[in-house]
Amino acid sequence: MTRTMLAVMLSVSAMTSPAFAQQLGQAVRQDLPELMALYRDLHQHPELSMQEMRSAGLLAAEARELGFDVTAGVGGTGVVAVLRNGSGPTLLLRADMDALPVEEQTGLPFASRARGTSLAGVESGIMHACGHDTHMAAWVGAARRLVAMRDQWSGTLVMIAQPGEEIGRGAVAMLDDGLYIRFPKPTHAIAFHDSASLPAGMIGYSVGPALANVDSVDLAVRGVGGHGAYPHTTRDPIVLASRIVTTLQTLVSRELNPLDSAVVTVGSFQGGTKHNIISDEARLQLTVRSYTPEIRRQLLDGIARIARGEAIAAGIPDERMPVVTVREAEFTPATVNTDALTQSTAARFRQHFGEARVRQVPPVMAGEDFSRYHLADPAIESLIFWVGGVPQARWDEADGDPARLPSLHSPFWAPEADTVIATATEAMVVAALGVLGRN
Ligand SMILES: [Zn+2]
Ligand SMILES: [Zn+2]
Repeated sequence: MTRTMLAVMLSVSAMTSPAFAQQLGQAVRQDLPELMALYRDLHQHPELSMQEMRSAGLLAAEARELGFDVTAGVGGTGVVAVLRNGSGPTLLLRADMDALPVEEQTGLPFASRARGTSLAGVESGIMHACGHDTHMAAWVGAARRLVAMRDQWSGTLVMIAQPGEEIGRGAVAMLDDGLYIRFPKPTHAIAFHDSASLPAGMIGYSVGPALANVDSVDLAVRGVGGHGAYPHTTRDPIVLASRIVTTLQTLVSRELNPLDSAVVTVGSFQGGTKHNIISDEARLQLTVRSYTPEIRRQLLDGIARIARGEAIAAGIPDERMPVVTVREAEFTPATVNTDALTQSTAARFRQHFGEARVRQVPPVMAGEDFSRYHLADPAIESLIFWVGGVPQARWDEADGDPARLPSLHSPFWAPEADTVIATATEAMVVAALGVLGRN
């Protein structure tokens, strides 16, 4: 055995040993009061998508103080913090910053009472109902640890705070603003998301697809309006739209291979103004989800075909055929965890946290624009993992049944923040050392 091989073995085992786990755990516990203060501050002051000025300022200041080279205002409110620490891979660690137009009902002492107006002009309460406040606190926690442990790794760390995840716009905005040109281009990208379907402190990961393709589709179903008492002189768009909604249910159930996964949900159905008027238009809004480009295409083509076919069956004139609009600008592509990084990081998590706290989980139909960082260059290894946030007592009480627990985006979602932040900070450090560790 050569000296180098011996050194490699020693350093790998040192970074995954029980002593290392204990030291890291202890260091994170010492940071936790400050990270929790930051979390509560962020939670109390949530900001809507692409308006994350205050949050970005707090994160930029933290990173600057730690010695990162910090650039603010990337892709709107995005922050890029770079730490060059010798030769080696370049690792991107991402936290998203935006909150949701949800009125908080958790009853927490530091619950948000903030209100604001979205880019779409809708005024509402604002809440960190997706837990991005825990992401930001753990981002700071991981930055602190990685700076403190800089003698144990080599390479470049690019920590980014991303705006606008909830509207699928922030990652693209940062990439379009030169994320991979003005700053070191990553070889690896890692993020985590808090989970409302795992007990607090558990880590979940998926191999391959982790989150779905998400499309928003508008359907303008046009008819010929008239008096409610004379339906024979009209073409009723509400009856037609109802048929379309019903036929759409067969897209997934009858047209897709049962072993493929997809969702077609009609989330909004609007039409008409009054009891006795047959309107001339009804409007449907759909969310369409899948994991592959092929299934996505099949669903979108199917929606257009069904809308047109039902309109023909209803005798709608050619010039009044339904108008189907796929909102391409809002499309979020599927998030795929690449194999090598996922398997090696999962193995490190198991060594660090123990088998009982790490489990492989199935993919979910939610979307994440974290996918963009890998899609911008498929050579980049990519992983997003889950950190459970449901307090164990709540989990046991509900028997782990997600239908009996608040989901992400619920006004009642209150993760066990100290456990999430401590676990996620440790996990991000362990994952980062897996990529950058001196071995
Ligand atoms: Zn969300
Ligand atoms: Zn989220």
